[in-house]
Amino acid sequence: MGMKTSTEHSSSASKLHVRETQCPYCSVQCKMTVEEVAGPIAGERRATYKVEGVPNEASQGRLCVKGMNAHQHALSGQRLLQPLIRRDGELVPSSWHEVTELIARRFISLQDQYGADVIGVYGGGSLTNETAYLLGKFARVALGTRYIDYNGRFCMSAAASAGSKVFGMDRGLTFRLSDIPRAQCIVLAGTNVAECQPTLLPYFNQAKENGAYIIVIDPRKTATAAIADLHLQVKPGMDALLANIMLKIIMEAGLVNEHFVDARTQGYESLRNALSEIDLEQSAVQCGVDLSMIRQAAMAYGQAETGMIMTARGVEQQTDGHLAVRHFLNLILATGKIGRPGCGYGAITGQGNGQGGREHGQKADQLPGYRSIENAQDRAYVASIWGVAPETLPGKGVSAYEMMERVHEQEIRALLVMGSNPVVSNPNVRLVEEGLRKLDFLVVADMFLSETAKMADVVLPVTAYLENEGTLTNLEGRVLLREQGRPAPGETRHDWDILCSIAGGLGKAPFFQYECAEDIFNELRLASRGGVADYYGMTYERLRREKGIYWPCASLEDGGEGLLFSDRFAHEDGRATFTSELSVGWQDTSREFPLILTNGRVLPHYLTGVQTHRSPTLEARELENFVELHPATAARNRIMDGEWVEIQSLHGSFTVRARIKENIREDTLFVPMHWGGVQNVNRATRPDLDPYCRMPGFKTAAVTIRSMRVVR
Ligand code: SF4
Repeated sequence: MGMKTSTEHSSSASKLHVRETQCPYCSVQCKMTVEEVAGPIAGERRATYKVEGVPNEASQGRLCVKGMNAHQHALSGQRLLQPLIRRDGELVPSSWHEVTELIARRFISLQDQYGADVIGVYGGGSLTNETAYLLGKFARVALGTRYIDYNGRFCMSAAASAGSKVFGMDRGLTFRLSDIPRAQCIVLAGTNVAECQPTLLPYFNQAKENGAYIIVIDPRKTATAAIADLHLQVKPGMDALLANIMLKIIMEAGLVNEHFVDARTQGYESLRNALSEIDLEQSAVQCGVDLSMIRQAAMAYGQAETGMIMTARGVEQQTDGHLAVRHFLNLILATGKIGRPGCGYGAITGQGNGQGGREHGQKADQLPGYRSIENAQDRAYVASIWGVAPETLPGKGVSAYEMMERVHEQEIRALLVMGSNPVVSNPNVRLVEEGLRKLDFLVVADMFLSETAKMADVVLPVTAYLENEGTLTNLEGRVLLREQGRPAPGETRHDWDILCSIAGGLGKAPFFQYECAEDIFNELRLASRGGVADYYGMTYERLRREKGIYWPCASLEDGGEGLLFSDRFAHEDGRATFTSELSVGWQDTSREFPLILTNGRVLPHYLTGVQTHRSPTLEARELENFVELHPATAARNRIMDGEWVEIQSLHGSFTVRARIKENIREDTLFVPMHWGGVQNVNRATRPDLDPYCRMPGFKTAAVTIRSMRVVR
């Protein structure tokens, strides 16, 4: 697959020719080449590029439209090429010397006045493993603050916490992508792979060709639902209950794998007792799905010899996301469909490094290798690698949105943001905006003047995917090395290099002595050694040679484990754990706010769109935000297709264009998440969090909708 595109990049003396890089967007991490095939034509600024997929085991040489056009943002004329500093209210060019000196001075003076925790660090799930690792070390060693978390909290926290509790280990897929065609039944719950990870779709099509029965659970008839044999159009917030109905039907039909349950799990009896309380008819009504269809799904999954269940943000971004995932995992355990070919669980990661980004220390409660910051042995081990005393490491902080609440309360007075755009991606954006305005000092490292960067006191220009080297861990748990493809433009610097400079200004240079990303990776290998996410056995040389290695990989001879849990789970006793704590789901609409607002992605855009809005080809496909609503809902609210509407919740409102479609439930509105400003869906999302994993309830806000048409 290949294509030619144009960008506004002015040609340089040497033509760009990147022999192999990785797409900076989703979690498949497709490999590709990027080549400038024609310079700008006289009088015009555009050069022409050829982008081709490179076969690797995950993407098999495929690319989607986002990957094909990713170079457009990297080569964009809108890139920040020198540091900016705020003077007289305006961001103006500065020098690295001036900004690093200012950052160190302000951080030191604020910490002298208010203590170490006055500074927060906010990372991202698209950063390389090396940067994510170093950001965690920077917060704990250079700043000594407990306040660090990252935007992956909004993606993976529900599935990650559920996987850890149930299996004793959180790795996105418990199987290899190449195992998907071997499954006889596949349940895709709250995941729209056709738009979010398009190059995975052929795996599911291949499974279908092999006779697999595909069940999609989603409030919308998505492009993924189009390949399903059965689509359960569930009411948002009711996924947990739906999973429980399916399991009760499986139990009643005698389809529980009792041998597996006895030999490899614990907690089944109390789950069976808990499920006896569920009334199937009434619960199906609450889910908004015919019981006969749920029965069909349950029987198909229960009777299949092999089967997989995959969840994504539709199930997980709920205030009961942790339990919702665990209820799907109950289904897997009860039927014994894990640990053998064609079986398993998959949490389909969203961000490019959504997997690795959550393993090595940028989470509030975590040290590298999935170690816990609250465990004395883990603290002592990591402190020994870092050359510090364990008691100097701060304790556990708070989750990403709770950091914003601390910012709002001015407990945090300075914030360093790297690889994230929190003023668009957080729920309840009004509070986040107010909080960031109150900060004494905001530093943002980004490629572009994002919505958050526009509010900063200092903006640090960073390198793009074509320019920096590092590892990323794809949705399978396979670690891939992305090589540098071109020199850093202008005065841009690598994230890790910036952290080392600031650490130097803070008097911590001896702890941050690295010449390159590989040096950091080698320290990460040691820091993760013996942990759940063990990278010790991987080296850059091996990653180059073997084209990617699964974790855990404990020794240099170890090939990494593709298929997990074939004979034991990762808990000490080797058993997986059922949960019998049932979620009642979400039922919070009212006369004033009668509709359910849910959100998600569209094919051409990624996260808050900081990169994809700068790609002309991608931007041309979706220029502005919209709400998808059912014709009956539109008629009831006197809304016409294409007109501007206001959507309002208890927490705020935003404005988008109406797109009337049959494919959505009548009680549900769908709005993409890729736009900021007045079109930002998060102006109306809720601030309450899942009690287990602190995931916000992005997928369920009670709202009302009205036309903005002026009636004369
Ligand atoms: Fe591959 Fe995902 Fe990039 Fe598309 S967005 S090219 S599927 S990594």
